[in-house]
Amino acid sequence: MSLEFRREAWSRDTNIEVEPSAMVPEDEIFLKRLSRGYLVEKDPNAPPFYREKGNSKFQEKDYTGAAVLYSKGISHSKPNTEDISLCYANRSAALFHLGQYETCLEDITRAQMHGYPERLQPKMILRKAECLVTLGRLQEASQAISDLESDFATKRTLATSSFQILQKNLHHLKKKVQEKESLPETFPPTLAKTFEDMDLKEENEQISRASSSVSLCTDPLKGRCLIATKDILPGELLVKEDAFVSVLNPGERLRHSLGNKWDTRIANGDLYCHRCLKHTLATVPCDGCSYAKYCSQECMQQAWELYHSVECPLGALLLSLGVFCHIALRLTLLTRFEDVGKVTSKLCDEISNSISFPKSKTLIKTLNYNQEENEDNGKVVKTPIPGCDISGKYENNYNAVFNLLPHTENHSPEHKFLCAVSISALCKELEAANLQAFATGLNSSKLKAPVTPQLCADFNIWGVAMLRHMLQLQCNAQAITTIQQTESKESIIANSRQVRLATGIFPVVSLLNHSCSPNTSVSFTSTVATIRAAQRIRKGQEILHCYGPHKSWMGVAERQQKLRSQYYFDCSCPACHTEELRTAAGPRWEAFCCNSCRALMQGDDVLSCDNKSCTESVSRDHLVSQLQDLQHQVGMAQKLLRSGKLEQAIQQLLGCQRDAESFLSPEHTMMGEIEDDLAQAYAALGDWQKSATHLQKSLRVVEARHGPSSVEMGHELFKLAQVLFNGFAVSEALKTIQKAEKVLLVHYGPWSDEIQELQKMRSCLLDLPPIPGGPLGL
Ligand SMILES: [Zn+2]
Ligand SMILES: [Zn+2]
Ligand SMILES: [Zn+2]
Ligand SMILES: [Zn+2]
Repeated sequence: MSLEFRREAWSRDTNIEVEPSAMVPEDEIFLKRLSRGYLVEKDPNAPPFYREKGNSKFQEKDYTGAAVLYSKGISHSKPNTEDISLCYANRSAALFHLGQYETCLEDITRAQMHGYPERLQPKMILRKAECLVTLGRLQEASQAISDLESDFATKRTLATSSFQILQKNLHHLKKKVQEKESLPETFPPTLAKTFEDMDLKEENEQISRASSSVSLCTDPLKGRCLIATKDILPGELLVKEDAFVSVLNPGERLRHSLGNKWDTRIANGDLYCHRCLKHTLATVPCDGCSYAKYCSQECMQQAWELYHSVECPLGALLLSLGVFCHIALRLTLLTRFEDVGKVTSKLCDEISNSISFPKSKTLIKTLNYNQEENEDNGKVVKTPIPGCDISGKYENNYNAVFNLLPHTENHSPEHKFLCAVSISALCKELEAANLQAFATGLNSSKLKAPVTPQLCADFNIWGVAMLRHMLQLQCNAQAITTIQQTESKESIIANSRQVRLATGIFPVVSLLNHSCSPNTSVSFTSTVATIRAAQRIRKGQEILHCYGPHKSWMGVAERQQKLRSQYYFDCSCPACHTEELRTAAGPRWEAFCCNSCRALMQGDDVLSCDNKSCTESVSRDHLVSQLQDLQHQVGMAQKLLRSGKLEQAIQQLLGCQRDAESFLSPEHTMMGEIEDDLAQAYAALGDWQKSATHLQKSLRVVEARHGPSSVEMGHELFKLAQVLFNGFAVSEALKTIQKAEKVLLVHYGPWSDEIQELQKMRSCLLDLPPIPGGPLGL
């Protein structure tokens, strides 16, 4: 069939022309200038710079910092150069000191693969042998040692002193191997996590990646939604879905400032695999650019085949256009691999009869295929729920993604215009890159190019598809977050915070509607999202999750405004409903209290004491500036804490605490923060008892704000458990471990690191011999 492709058919959808020529030269110049701010190519002068910077971190014993700087050096090095091999070798040393022996071994192999200089080999092989001994791979260790010995025997070119040191180390290591060999095998079986409990008990027949406890329905007002088909208990896994597409958030820092050519700071992009989002200090860079880094050769290869071969030369442009544009491109690139059978009748409806497609292009072929099939059946098959296939099944596929609502009618003309300009720019670059690739011949690059479809002819279709995706993203993009341990050398208690790691599209998760007080909890393991029931959900109730504005983070007015401007709906969740009815005293975690009688203060511009027998009143401006002063003071204390000046930090914090008590409600967030900082300072001093006392106060604030079964509460309980554990307050610790476990289990499931850690603590406490005179400390 030969249909005439006309863009106008789409104009009702977009009202914008999508064509590279829509860009005027000024726009192009502007974009080029913007892109220039990003260093994405390999700079041959960078590796020595980063290696030197890494070496000085290494000297300071900051091995994590050193590893990241060596990684930066690696990403700027060309393959098979001395630069890259030296950086890998140095990184292996940093990883060794961090106790990451497996990755250390990998880096040693990489250094050798890229031609590590012969003269430097002995020291590295010694390190290899040490790793192998520690890992219990004694045979390989012995082999490495005997290789080294014969090497020593043949050439003595090394300076005598370093040769002697090496020999001493070798001798030491040999003894270690002998000792270990004489011991029975005592290594614990590797902590292989069984993922059984992370899997859905029974997969839903209608919706892939969802549990059979839910079903997909449509509601005239809300559109698609998920409903419980049976009573669901807290902690039950409801959805486990791998992102259809995800793009790592590079972090603000990638854009370097002028004058500071090579950035030495650590950003997301240095710590997480750009494909699978796994955390790693031993990244492997793309051979073609300096910004794409992966956890392994395999991930690099896969990313290359799936999308990076096209994206690689566009790095600077993609970074300046932003993550949404990048996702839109990657989505369309991924459609090249979609199964022809599983596609999109809606797409065909939408592109209607009057459109023709250039032939033999994958995306278009799939569309035609479906159209033909429908016609063969004699009538157009209307799928009952958008996004489902003909048999009514909803899957994590391109069809489902395509059917996510773009809300085109709601976007402002400015937003639509910006999207169109971005996509135009992208198409233009794609076209240019494609032509260049053909001109130079892809084989001139060392990279193996996968079979790329002839993009040029596809640009119209691609542009339209990308524009649709870009408009969809505002309402459908899901932030992929992770819990990051905040780095603090002094603190023994793990302090954690949630960071936004990437942005992804999850067609099944997207079926969930919003509530400011949701009945589920979402967490991520690499690119996989899991949604668990956070409370009991009765049969027939809707499964809800929070799009961001949660009731414990902002007041009802702010939430409503955010939801309206980004998602185009008025939230009528129970939290919004009850909060709107309540008079505006504001939430307790933001409330001020009376300076003389401690009752709450109420009012707008002028606040007066709640206590009828008290006459205190004060202007809001005054209180707000007082709070700002306090924030500044606390900030100073935190700086002291971070730099290890613990006694000073404590003095400063105690001052802040006195100040805070005079005008803030006991449940004010700032009160909690001060208590938490004090707990951290005392823990660093080893005063577990005081630390626990302050943590318990912080816990009360967290509970008032986030509720007793919130994930925030779980993290705070986890901290308290660690403190009590360290202080040998056995019965208290056991109680707290149990509480923390109960809360975290609901949010993260049984195989999360947090739960495993708690269980280890418990068994350790239960194994303790009874202490004469009762527990110490507390
Ligand atoms: Zn990876
Ligand atoms: Zn690349
Ligand atoms: Zn709400
Ligand atoms: Zn008062």
